[in-house]
Amino acid sequence: MTASITKQGHDLKKEIMIRRVVDYVRNEGGSVPKAIRALDLDVSVRSVYSYTKRHEIDLASFKYARLRYGDWIINAIPAVRVSLNDFIVNACCLLCGQSKDVHLSNLRSGKSKCCKPCALKRKKTFDVVSIANNTRYSSIRQFHKEVDADISYQKVRKLLIDKGSVLINGIEYFLLPKHQHG
Ligand SMILES: [Zn+2]
Repeated sequence: MTASITKQGHDLKKEIMIRRVVDYVRNEGGSVPKAIRALDLDVSVRSVYSYTKRHEIDLASFKYARLRYGDWIINAIPAVRVSLNDFIVNACCLLCGQSKDVHLSNLRSGKSKCCKPCALKRKKTFDVVSIANNTRYSSIRQFHKEVDADISYQKVRKLLIDKGSVLINGIEYFLLPKHQHG
């Protein structure tokens, strides 16, 4: 009798440890061995796998959770395998806080560094324009290169961004949104 109670107590203790490992992987991502190390628990990888198999818990799909790629951070939501080497993961764009389903392969390759609206905002969206001599430059860098300015690129850029215009050789140049197509 005593032996049985002790065994039950032991089993419960073991199950609690296994549950902690499972929860850790589900919340933090990574692998089972990594979770056991992080939690510093006396439990075997094998016992965790046998538990997850018995309870049909899929930890593999949480493997990528919390990984960061560019401004994406992968949420602790099961990844969905779409091909041999690719998954759809749910990731949060750190620039705007929106979460989207994205291909892990695009994050890994660096093709996608943030969500589409933020990527668009990041692109150069302003031209430098002079109304006086009817010229348009497609970037501040190009403008600074072509106009004969005594001041540094950094200063020109700061003036254009802070004030919206800069006066060079008596001509005022403005920062205007690019022409939108479509
Ligand atoms: Zn975004």
